[in-house]
Amino acid sequence: MPRDSSDGGLSCHLIRISSQARQSPKTGPCTVPAIVAIAKGGLTPPWPGGHRPCVTFTLPRPPAPDPLRDALFLDFDGTLVPLAERPEGVVVTSALIDRLHRLTDLFDGRLALVSGRAIAVLDEFGLSGLPMAGSHGAEWRLADGQHDALPRPAALDDAKTAFVAFADAREGVLFEDKPLGAALHFRLAPGAADDAIALATSHAGGLHLQHGHAMIEVRVPGVHKGTAIAAMMARTPFAGYNPLFLGDDVTDEDGFAAAARLGGHGVLVGPSRQSNATFALSDPVAVNAWLAELLEPAR
Ligand SMILES: [Mg+2]
Repeated sequence: MPRDSSDGGLSCHLIRISSQARQSPKTGPCTVPAIVAIAKGGLTPPWPGGHRPCVTFTLPRPPAPDPLRDALFLDFDGTLVPLAERPEGVVVTSALIDRLHRLTDLFDGRLALVSGRAIAVLDEFGLSGLPMAGSHGAEWRLADGQHDALPRPAALDDAKTAFVAFADAREGVLFEDKPLGAALHFRLAPGAADDAIALATSHAGGLHLQHGHAMIEVRVPGVHKGTAIAAMMARTPFAGYNPLFLGDDVTDEDGFAAAARLGGHGVLVGPSRQSNATFALSDPVAVNAWLAELLEPAR
């Protein structure tokens, strides 16, 4: 329901959301078009008509989570750190690492990274002390040593050979080798996007074709960031708490949906789009400011 029913424009928008949302199925693809930007007061559950309005609008800033009830799951690229032209070009500051460890303490261990990157790569960025799921959920590791990883499919070797040859032949295209995936990045060569996607699609048999920001990847099938969050939420210290997942990419939508199913929320980082997220923050700078605010009461 609208927080401020005296605001004629806001009430009108919410009525339109409510009436159209009731025509939308509770599950399945959203068919409701972009309707409205909520600029005042935000829009939070319970949703009008009992349906989450699957429309494109400006989502509200997330309220501060409760360290006694909630758990934090954080994407890495584009969420905690700005995207870089090259995957290895992102900068992880000591201040960010310190902030993440202090938040882990504040949430009694209930903070984890959920990334498309391999765990080994996240470790190299100095994040090894944190619980994390890597490779889009194909591997995870908790602070107490619990871990799991799917085997590498043989089909990745053929994809790797073809991707390396493609990257060598196309100026600006970068190949990223992963233990459980193979990716082509075309941020520096946007004209190669269609050919890169076509090549990856041709090698997706038995693998999962993963779209992302200026990249395409084939990877282990059957898992995603949502399954990773669910796997960690089934285990100590996360079990029984409410997950809040922050992410920026389309690959994070599965995580937003899983967080909602498990009693929490998704937080979209970046421009508005049709999303499973409930809340939004504009960019990694806003994410880090929001995270820093959570620590202020503990100072
Ligand atoms: Mg990301």
